Amino acid sequence: EASADQPRIVQLEEAVINRIAAGEVVVRPANALKELMENSLDAGSTRVAIVAKSGGLKMLRIEDDGHGIRADDLPILCERFTTSKLRKYEDLSSIGTFGFRGEALASISHVAHVTVTTMTSGDDCARVAQYSESKMQGPARPCAGTRGTTIVVEDMFYNNPTRRQALSKESIEHAKVLEVVQRYAIHYPKVGFSCRKNTSSVSELTTVGGEDVTAQGVISTIYGQNLAKELFPYSLASEEPKFSCTGFASSPNYMSRSLTFILFINNRLVDSGPLKRALEAVYQSVLPRHQHPWVYLALEVNPAAIDVNVHPTKMEVQFLHEETIAQRLQETLLAQLQTLGGSRTFVSAL
Ligand code: ADP
Ligand code: MG
Repeated sequence: EASADQPRIVQLEEAVINRIAAGEVVVRPANALKELMENSLDAGSTRVAIVAKSGGLKMLRIEDDGHGIRADDLPILCERFTTSKLRKYEDLSSIGTFGFRGEALASISHVAHVTVTTMTSGDDCARVAQYSESKMQGPARPCAGTRGTTIVVEDMFYNNPTRRQALSKESIEHAKVLEVVQRYAIHYPKVGFSCRKNTSSVSELTTVGGEDVTAQGVISTIYGQNLAKELFPYSLASEEPKFSCTGFASSPNYMSRSLTFILFINNRLVDSGPLKRALEAVYQSVLPRHQHPWVYLALEVNPAAIDVNVHPTKMEVQFLHEETIAQRLQETLLAQLQTLGGSRTFVSAL
């Protein structure tokens, strides 16, 4: 016998489901920015300009000079699982992109208002379209423009006041936005990046891009000579397991109260606990207690070895042979740190 005590199970409305799902994916402006910048880079851009208002919460604008979006594709641009990068499930393991699979713009459009202006090289004018909750709001309108795409994200979490209140101060959100731009600028030195607050005409970060610019040059521009002069390059390649990596790491002369670890795996900015712990362990033997290094690591692994089904919000990735790769990296860095000397003796083995 049914009684009033048992609550009924009902299916949530689709709009509610989408908003909940999107809120898990886009947690803060810097998450959205990372996805939008990756799209710009995937589109072959040579220039990416970012403007943020109120830490990106009021407004986040990403302008690129990439290949643009075809006018025909605009109506479905912000629907879930619409993508130009993937055709069948098997492609997931070979495309080398992980994170979102046609979900980024959809998710962002569920937590904010999105305006897209875009022009391809075949178009005679640009088009502008607005999106809310995945749907294009009215037809795209022709407008003036140049080749590339500008995406404006406004009033993030307007429909989720709790989430909005739970976020840090705008200044902290802004710092996270800037940090994402800095990291991509280092990894893509040939692309010119800029990032500024809407209230200022002066950029907080500008890299010029072009063939001659190196990661080291960008690091020096962003972090200054004090860090840059203490960095040494390292690289490592292996057949079994197959991987390769390059990067820059600080010498024992450089110390910081917190670790900076900039990790790109197959050109995506990610986190890895095991790699982070491996680095800390190496430097423990050459730095005083409570002092930490600065390390940039660009790792290439077989795309099939990365778990692409780790939830897209998670910056943390899992990949095969993590422990072996971490160990080889330790050996390489330790050898170089030891030849560099430094003021301390090396007592502990790893
Ligand atoms: P994904 O990147 O996984 O395909 P997104 O939701 O991030 O999914 O983007 C959907 C599609 O929109 C992309 O596949 C791409 O074709 C197009 N797109 C998004 N941003 C840009 C951009 N800045 N320049 C060109 N195309 C873009
Ligand atoms: Mg994307």
